[in-house]
Amino acid sequence: MANKGKLYIIAAPSGAGKTSLVKAMVESTPHVKVSVSHTTRGQRSGEVDGVNYHFVSTEAFQKELGEGRFLEHAEVFGNFYGTSETWVREQLAKGEDVILEIDWQGAKQVRRLMPDAVSIFILPPSLEALRERLIGRGTDDMAIIDRRMAQAVNEMSHYGEFDYLVINDEFDLALRDLQTIIRSRRLAIGWMQHYKADLIKGLLN
Ligand code: GDP
Ligand code: ADP
Ligand code: 5GP
Repeated sequence: MANKGKLYIIAAPSGAGKTSLVKAMVESTPHVKVSVSHTTRGQRSGEVDGVNYHFVSTEAFQKELGEGRFLEHAEVFGNFYGTSETWVREQLAKGEDVILEIDWQGAKQVRRLMPDAVSIFILPPSLEALRERLIGRGTDDMAIIDRRMAQAVNEMSHYGEFDYLVINDEFDLALRDLQTIIRSRRLAIGWMQHYKADLIKGLLN
């Protein structure tokens, strides 16, 4: 087994709750880590460099891109975003499961490069709820919120390209759905044969 850990791609329109769900997922499940993306967008109040994102200039981003450091990258809402390839591969080799919170364009690139990746799309219960969440988050001004709402339908139109669909209406139920997807992949035969090799050997001898 080259990669012991599994790769998860999670996408959603902005404000659907992807970051909150992934944070709760990582805190509640051992051996799950989230990749910290590089971005050229401005830092929101409350965001910490190196924790929420690696905040970089467009020049620094283009330099890293030219050096082939990104597993995938995309332009979203006029800013560049990218996933560091080395970090992801190191974690997977160690047996950590890795979550990428990326948009549909990045998801498409990662699926092509790593066909074993499992992809999950998160939908809000309604467009009204989505707008309320973007406003309630209190991190973006109205012009940015309008821009994200305008892009939401485009992002959501790609949901059919994903393996799983989670509706984030009630937070705890959506979290349970995410945990169930990851749990079931950990029970798949290929992984269990590796993870429980001694137990299986003991039973069959
Ligand atoms: P949020 O979705 O409201 O948290 O807003 P962000 O500014 O954090 O992200 C904006 C968009 O960029 C979202 O659709 C993310 O899925 C996407 N995004 C974030 N990081 C990455 C990345 O590393 N690669 C790609 N392709 N998209 C990303
Ligand atoms: P995203 O990362 O998809 O842009 P966030 O995780 O930042 O979304 O969530 C957007 C806002 O919606 C946050 O203020 C968050 O607390 C809130 N939120 C997330 N899930 C729910 C839910 N199930 N019900 C109500 N509010 C939610
Ligand atoms: P425990 O720590 O109770 O053995 O395992 C908790 C969960 O983490 C189980 O779902 C198990 O399959 C998973 N797990 C344990 N060790 C590893 C590991 O090294 N890599 C990955 N990806 N999952 C692991």
